[in-house]
Amino acid sequence: MSDAVLVLNAGSSSIKFELFEVVGDHAETRLDGQMEGIGASPHLIARDARRHVLADHRWPGPDVADHVTALVRIMEGIGPSIEGRRIIAVGHRVVHGGPDLADPMLVDDGAMERLRALMSLAPLHQPHNIAGIEAATRRFPGVPQIACFDTAFHRAHAWEADTFALPPDFYARGIRRYGFHGLSYEYISHLLAEEEPALAAGRVVVAHLGNGSSLCAIRNGRSVDSTMGFTALDGVPMGTRCGQIDPGVLLHLMLTEGMDAADLTGLLYGNAGLKGMSGISQDVRDLEKSEDPRAAQALSYYVWRVRREIGALAAALGGIDALVFTAGIGENARNLRARICDGLGFLGIAVDAERNAANAPEISSPGAATRVLVRPTDEEGMIARHVLALLQRSENA
Ligand code: ADP
Repeated sequence: MSDAVLVLNAGSSSIKFELFEVVGDHAETRLDGQMEGIGASPHLIARDARRHVLADHRWPGPDVADHVTALVRIMEGIGPSIEGRRIIAVGHRVVHGGPDLADPMLVDDGAMERLRALMSLAPLHQPHNIAGIEAATRRFPGVPQIACFDTAFHRAHAWEADTFALPPDFYARGIRRYGFHGLSYEYISHLLAEEEPALAAGRVVVAHLGNGSSLCAIRNGRSVDSTMGFTALDGVPMGTRCGQIDPGVLLHLMLTEGMDAADLTGLLYGNAGLKGMSGISQDVRDLEKSEDPRAAQALSYYVWRVRREIGALAAALGGIDALVFTAGIGENARNLRARICDGLGFLGIAVDAERNAANAPEISSPGAATRVLVRPTDEEGMIARHVLALLQRSENA
């Protein structure tokens, strides 16, 4: 019987999962997948590490109505593939640790209360993360549940990077810039430290460009600033989210067009960004194929804003030694990468067209002052590492 760690990332209508086998002191991925459409049109897909499909099932909506049932169905679906493996812990991606929670945390009853208290800071995400932990606690009674926070990597920011220009009691009440995608940035930082310690000790801007997009300024492995703020709405535009917007626009929409909080939530989270601007799709691949001028405009705006933020974060670091692209767009959208870097020559950035077209791990031109790298991110792998480290620490305690 071998030991395994299950990693869950529970969203509003989906649970993403990845199973790692514990080999010596590290975790190796064995399978991953997701249950989508919980409560609507549930669909489970799971693949092994070679991308062979292990499970592909659909159910009527009511048959997988909530996260608890979803997890039961996931475990049934992948059951034959995990025979002979004992789940020793479940790691959870939790979006918000608030001002105080940074280290991965064993979730007992008291910890669950602390997570619930943070729901108001991330009402659209945190409740689903908590539902995932509750589901896993029921499905795996007695097995340690470990929460890893997306905000944690940014907790060492200087006050200037995290505050808003509001009276100080707002900051004290938790109204501050937290930053997200921390597990991705932490993973990339660790990877660089292993591959290129000298570079990792320097000034690195990481562009996590996926459906959700943000960028992070990292010095010597520590986050100095990041484009996302109090919520995952701020910064660069995303698949369906607006990115930075003048707060006066929201006041205007409320005062003159009668929009309320629900209307604004729908607009800013679900009908803005690439999807809202193009009216076509949130997916860069669709927009690149489209001949509709709105698709081209949406991509141009995306490129413009990402380039601007790279400049801003380079300023926050006092210079830049490396730019790292990661996540779905960063790893794959070569045209956008080239366009973003075009115009950043003043930062020593120059992209080699052939390397970029090949999605090479290093796409900077030979001799360019600033290295430009492409690395796949692995947030689940980072969680699995945290889980093993925490188990190790509690064994040694
Ligand atoms: P999430 O934030 O949901 O984890 P991902 O990091 O997987 O998202 O990024 C998904 C996005 O990556 C897609 O919506 C699409 O815009 C983009 N993408 C993925 N593959 C490609 C590709 N080959 N070319 C261009 N864009 C791509």
